Amino acid sequence: MTETASRSTAAAGFTITDGVPVELGEDKSWQDLANCLGVDPDLFFPERGASTREAKEVCRGCVVRDDCLEYALANGEKFGIWGGMSERERRRIRRQRALARAAATSERTTATA
Ligand code: SF4
Repeated sequence: MTETASRSTAAAGFTITDGVPVELGEDKSWQDLANCLGVDPDLFFPERGASTREAKEVCRGCVVRDDCLEYALANGEKFGIWGGMSERERRRIRRQRALARAAATSERTTATA
């Protein structure tokens, strides 16, 4: 990961963008229940090609997993494991949701025409 990359963990409650800590903002109360509190943040930012298994194991039993995932999706977190998912997995969800929105919009347009 480069120094200019955005980096954070859910439990830490902040992200680092271009070396500057930035608070995550919004309602962060769910972070108090995060399984990753106190866990080495490096675990959630494995090197390219490295295993994500350990991080996902931490996330597996996390009670705020959905909140964490939705936060990452809403904020376009590009790096790391959030909500038990890698960036690639989150990209797939964003694509699926975009397709679903497009289909719903198309259906509404067709119904009103
Ligand atoms: S889902 Fe994972 S990264 Fe998110 S708060 Fe829970 S343990 Fe942390």
